[in-house]
Amino acid sequence: MAGRAIPAEIHGGGRFLLRRRDFTPAYLKAHEDGRLRDKVEEALAHLGPSCRACPRLCKGVDRRANQYGVCKVGRHARVASAFAHFGEEDVLRGWRGSGTIFFSWCNLRCVFCQNFETSQLGEGEELDAWGLAALMLSVQDQGCHNINFVTPEHVAPQIVEALPHAIRMGLRLPLVYNTSAYDSLESLRVLDGLVDVYMPDFKLWDGGASRLYLSAVNYPEVAREVIAEMHRQVGDLKADEDGLALRGVLVRHLVMPGRLSDTREIIDWLAARWRDTYLNLMDQYYPAWKAKTNPRFADINRRVTRPEMTQAIAMAHAAGLWRLDDRWREVSF
Ligand code: SF4
Repeated sequence: MAGRAIPAEIHGGGRFLLRRRDFTPAYLKAHEDGRLRDKVEEALAHLGPSCRACPRLCKGVDRRANQYGVCKVGRHARVASAFAHFGEEDVLRGWRGSGTIFFSWCNLRCVFCQNFETSQLGEGEELDAWGLAALMLSVQDQGCHNINFVTPEHVAPQIVEALPHAIRMGLRLPLVYNTSAYDSLESLRVLDGLVDVYMPDFKLWDGGASRLYLSAVNYPEVAREVIAEMHRQVGDLKADEDGLALRGVLVRHLVMPGRLSDTREIIDWLAARWRDTYLNLMDQYYPAWKAKTNPRFADINRRVTRPEMTQAIAMAHAAGLWRLDDRWREVSF
């Protein structure tokens, strides 16, 4: 847990401090006041008769009958792995790790996906609501600081369905919804009052690039809409006395090679609305999956350069964003 002092961008002189004793996970409150039961019903209704769990709106696909659409997931979620993740942001990994539950398949088709075995080839195990709840408890029992649902867009109903079981089993950790931002507003409205931390990765601003690289021409509009909704629900990111995220929005942006114009637009859009956005500008892009082999994607078949990253950070500062994520905690394993 050693490391330098908690940096100013975490607590902002106390403005973004949420004391642990004043915090109750949102889903526990919803359970106590009886709202969770209705939310489960509402969420499951999104699965059919035509699935509307995500913006693909797969017409005629009834996932209640185990049919599947673009995301290839039927009635039950599929999980690739669950573990204490020490590679996430310091506000999530803390010193005992972020309790990551990594869902299989995806509703996007990112040609550069660095987890394509999971997202595009579907490696993993199918779990019903009880199984998913038990998995949440297993990472809680490992001492993790939060439950971190990775690639949850297409299984938001199944997550909501599992929550009452997990609560009965003793779940008490904050929930982190770690998403590509290709979510449906309907799903987000069900998640309102259940999720503590939203972590959208706003990937691309340009529709043509989104069509080419993500197979989703409407991605930028959807991402803008859902990030605004996430912000309406939980506001700017707040952390406890130890610098662990408890509530709010943490925006990620994977800087892409040769695409600083998208970076600039995304930064300017965020800065114009929420100057106190907690932002992680990520530098770990490398060409994977089809970006590595298909000449159609030659423009992104390289790593991001140091000058590109320097420029991205300078853009954020120039736009007035000041809560930029940085490594500050030393974690010993
Ligand atoms: S969650 Fe899957 S089946 Fe449902 S609309 Fe999205 S891609 Fe289609």
